[in-house]
Amino acid sequence: MNPLPTTEYRADGNSLPAAQQPAWADPDLLDGTTGRLARLPELVFAEESDRLRERLAAVARGEAFVLQGGDCAETFDGVTADAINGKLRTLLQMALVLTYGASVPVVKIGRLAGQYAKPRSRPTETRGGVTLPAYRGDAVNAPDFTAAARRPDPRRLLRMYEASAATLNLVRAFSTGGYAGLHHARDWNRAFITDSPAGRRYEELADDIDRSLRFMEACGVTSRQLHAVEFFVSHEGLLLDYERALTRTDARTGRAYAGSGHLLWIGERTRGLDGAHVDYFSRIGNPIAVKLGPDATADEALAYAARLNPRNEPGRLTFVTRMGAGRIRDRLPGLVEKVTADGAVVAWVCDPMHGNTFVAPSSHKTRRFDDILDEVRGFFEVHRALGTHAGGLHVELTGDDVTECVGGDDVLVGDLHRRYETACDPRLNHRQSLELAFRAAEMLLD
Ligand code: PEP
Ligand code: MN
Repeated sequence: MNPLPTTEYRADGNSLPAAQQPAWADPDLLDGTTGRLARLPELVFAEESDRLRERLAAVARGEAFVLQGGDCAETFDGVTADAINGKLRTLLQMALVLTYGASVPVVKIGRLAGQYAKPRSRPTETRGGVTLPAYRGDAVNAPDFTAAARRPDPRRLLRMYEASAATLNLVRAFSTGGYAGLHHARDWNRAFITDSPAGRRYEELADDIDRSLRFMEACGVTSRQLHAVEFFVSHEGLLLDYERALTRTDARTGRAYAGSGHLLWIGERTRGLDGAHVDYFSRIGNPIAVKLGPDATADEALAYAARLNPRNEPGRLTFVTRMGAGRIRDRLPGLVEKVTADGAVVAWVCDPMHGNTFVAPSSHKTRRFDDILDEVRGFFEVHRALGTHAGGLHVELTGDDVTECVGGDDVLVGDLHRRYETACDPRLNHRQSLELAFRAAEMLLD
């Protein structure tokens, strides 16, 4: 499944193949960096991760929906108040559209504060006859096409920690400091979308909510919950050097937890059952997810359930399927049927992005909004037909007005160059994200 060479990883004295790990240039520097990381405070607490597991248990039981989103790859330069706020506002708006439109609680999880490492389909990149290591995310190397920039530098792991800490600080301030309260719902809309259909539709929704809030206040109803929001962070747990260094023992239970984020997921390229990633994930107490592409088999899904959730705890394991619009209706039913028949309790989430990527004639990697929507529709259809719960969406998005995915109501293939800013995969812009939320809310209600 994985074309890349693997490196050794030692777990309990056994060496296991670890896919997609950088060839760090300097082992002493790596040891120094991971030693430093191991002494630094964890970024999230085990109690918080447990709370997310409880929220995801409600999703697995069919009582809630999860919205997980953010950049494909965060960048160190992208750690600005504006950029982070933009993503948070977009996610809150989408969650509000889903909650209000479909009357369902929405668990909000950012793909941020740690999403700095990328698996690659090729270990190297060749341009004009020159071959260099592929860019693997800011946690590993830099995107510029020079030998120096592409050299994997372990000191970047420390910068990843700092960038994650700064982002998380803003997330915490934002979610509890008042601005994420429902009274501000109107302010989350960004000026550049107020003329678009999704933007206008959102303004109407914000008006409705304002009216409801005034009504509740007039009746004397006040609740702290209206002024704050519960928001969690997640990333692909790809770099085992980083994740292991930030693993902490929970003093309450003696159990190990990843301290780098509330939820970690295993990517499509690193989910080998005998590999180091599955081994690491089996040893931590956090809620975890596994990405399943179109070639994943039902037996593999059962093996993940047995291996990663042996006590069958609801909320512990989420399957994020990313089949592609053309295959989801064929591939998903077999997985869901067999996992359900086995009695394994999992949350099912749809990533409608990664199975729908193609390269435009301008050589931009892109995705069509219509394909994304069609995969989401297929996901709802399959679950409806089986009587199971379509548990949520996992999307790559930004709060900015970028032109990376084609469609919605304005970005054409010829427009991609206008604001193509992603460090890796193409993201939905603010308007496309909102549009997707409105459409998904309708599907939830159907
Ligand atoms: C990603 O989420 O950016 C990614 C690489 O996904 P996948 O592992 O599903 O290909
Ligand atoms: Mn991606």
